[in-house]
Amino acid sequence: MDRFSQRVIVIGAGPVGLCLALALAHEGVEVALIEALREANFLEQVPRAGTNHPATLEMLDSIGLYAKLEPRGIIAPLFHYWDRAEHRLIAEFDHRHIKQDTKFPYVLQCERIKIVEEALKLAKMHPNIELRLATEFTSFIQDADGVTASVRNADGESELLRGGYLVSCEGAKSLVRKALGISFEGFTYPDRTLNIEVAYDFRKHGYTERNYISDPQEWSNLFHWKGPPDRWRVHFPTAPEEEDEALTRPDALQSRLQRFLPTSQPFDIVGTNLYTVHQRVAEKFRLGRAILAGDSAHVNSPIGAMGMNSGIHDAFNLKDKLIKVLRKEEGEDILDRYERQRRHVALKHTQAQTIRNKRLLAEQDPAIRRKNHEELRRTAEDPKLARTFLLRSSLIESLREAERIL
Ligand SMILES: Cc1cc2nc3c(=O)[nH]c(=O)nc-3n(C[C@H](O)[C@H](O)[C@H](O)COP(=O)(O)OP(=O)(O)OC[C@H]3O[C@@H](n4cnc5c(N)ncnc54)[C@H](O)[C@@H]3O)c2cc1C
Repeated sequence: MDRFSQRVIVIGAGPVGLCLALALAHEGVEVALIEALREANFLEQVPRAGTNHPATLEMLDSIGLYAKLEPRGIIAPLFHYWDRAEHRLIAEFDHRHIKQDTKFPYVLQCERIKIVEEALKLAKMHPNIELRLATEFTSFIQDADGVTASVRNADGESELLRGGYLVSCEGAKSLVRKALGISFEGFTYPDRTLNIEVAYDFRKHGYTERNYISDPQEWSNLFHWKGPPDRWRVHFPTAPEEEDEALTRPDALQSRLQRFLPTSQPFDIVGTNLYTVHQRVAEKFRLGRAILAGDSAHVNSPIGAMGMNSGIHDAFNLKDKLIKVLRKEEGEDILDRYERQRRHVALKHTQAQTIRNKRLLAEQDPAIRRKNHEELRRTAEDPKLARTFLLRSSLIESLREAERIL
């Protein structure tokens, strides 16, 4: 048996790769964690995920990460649906309705960058993790006994790393997925989303920490993040033909914000970026000893905060199965169960729900809008219906359903 046949090579120290590495390492598995970013630029990443759902918090707790993140985030038991045209609160959902279902009946608003920063500190200290920053994965081959990954290391030299399994947590552009010829089925929305970060307390106007705002002309999302200074992210749709420069000019940002919420003062804008939204799921999550997890396996609209959460759920599901295979308690075909379970979640929960979420916010037909809003109001006010809704929105239902897939 070769020396590294029990080692798992994880490509990418994003939230999914770090969680997988820490979860495996906690169970005594040796991990080589490969990340292209350097120590010096690791924290210079564009703002992305940040809402952590209850089931994810339970997983983060199991690897000692929750305790590091809670002081850096905002505990948010509530979220709102608003009607922008009428500046009217449609429905308030309260995670306390699922307090018998989870140890954490709230979301933690804590940005991806803080998660990877804290997780990286834990990974550096873990004796079972060989962390390689500034190391770019370039290709791999697999044989009956293991995988060999080619990387360009921090000194610019090519190097070969050997392991029993290789997990691609490289994000949406996964080289592993491409090398395996696995198609990334789905579509890309033609419009991009504009994110504006503002230091302003929107709670004065009745908003809570997470707000989904429907409007036939310009739907939006509004989220609160811990500072200093405390910031709020406002997401707006843009027309496909609009140029970046015109969209992100300071006066254009100000007037968009003032249309959204007229105030007597200009907003203190602390950042902005544009992003493209894809809805894609890989045709396969595993071929032989190479496995996909997180954004390398599925990408979706951020409305509903599910991409990173479901990627972390992939990591924990895969960890359980890899451990059984490495300990020879189960055969390799258990890894196909990972694919059956997590691909089902990606298609039937994450993708289906995020498509529905966007449609709900952007609905144009006044009669359908009224019906949707009435249904949301009724659901939020009835504890039984609210619990069912929250189990779905917080991805607990997806985990329970996946467990039933053999
Ligand atoms: C605006 C926005 C808001 C979002 N909000 C939410 C939210 O609230 N909740 C939620 O759940 N999701 C959200 N998402 C989605 C979320 O950001 C992603 O699903 C999540 O970051 C995926 O994590 P990952 O670890 O799979 O990949 P990534 O975060 O993309 O990390 C991949 C890592 O791999 C490294 N890497 C890539 N290629 C190589 C290589 N060749 N060699 C070595 N290293 C490599 C990269 O440097 C990176 O560190 C949001 C996304 C956007 C755009």
